Amino acid sequence: MAKRPIILHPDPRLKKVCDPVSDLSDDLRRLADDMLETMYDAPGIGLAAPQVGVMSRLIVLDCEKNEDADPRPTVMFNPEVKAASDERNIYEEGCLSIPDQYADVERPSEVTVTWLDRDGRLQEDTFDGLWATCVQHEIDHLNGKLFIDYLGPMKRQMITRKMQKLKREKARA
Ligand SMILES: [Zn+2]
Repeated sequence: MAKRPIILHPDPRLKKVCDPVSDLSDDLRRLADDMLETMYDAPGIGLAAPQVGVMSRLIVLDCEKNEDADPRPTVMFNPEVKAASDERNIYEEGCLSIPDQYADVERPSEVTVTWLDRDGRLQEDTFDGLWATCVQHEIDHLNGKLFIDYLGPMKRQMITRKMQKLKREKARA
């Protein structure tokens, strides 16, 4: 496994709709493993393939917060939200592509998702709490959508300007 550099907002690759995965190759499995390593190292609870520059419908997540519990590394190819609750939840979200910026985002509090797992088996599960928020945030990435797109234009522009400044500083360093 190897860590991959995470693309920072603003970047055109974070605004594109990603392609479905049709053939689950060893390369894609390796990519999923690399993404998990990158996510745990960051540290973060979710990562989508476009954040490492791959325009394929692949996300990884692990929202297990209890430090005594076993990790739950989850790999989802072609994840799709099949059903969402009317009840909604507000979480303060962040993003590895938008470091150190956080904002409240309202989403359905429960979602049923289907996906292909690392072995290509079709899976379906219903998520709530942080898992529900995280899986929706990551699936949004596959559709070129960021959590700041849920915010008002002023707040979004403020965050984007901060990120542009951060990227200029990083480029000079
Ligand atoms: Zn994100």
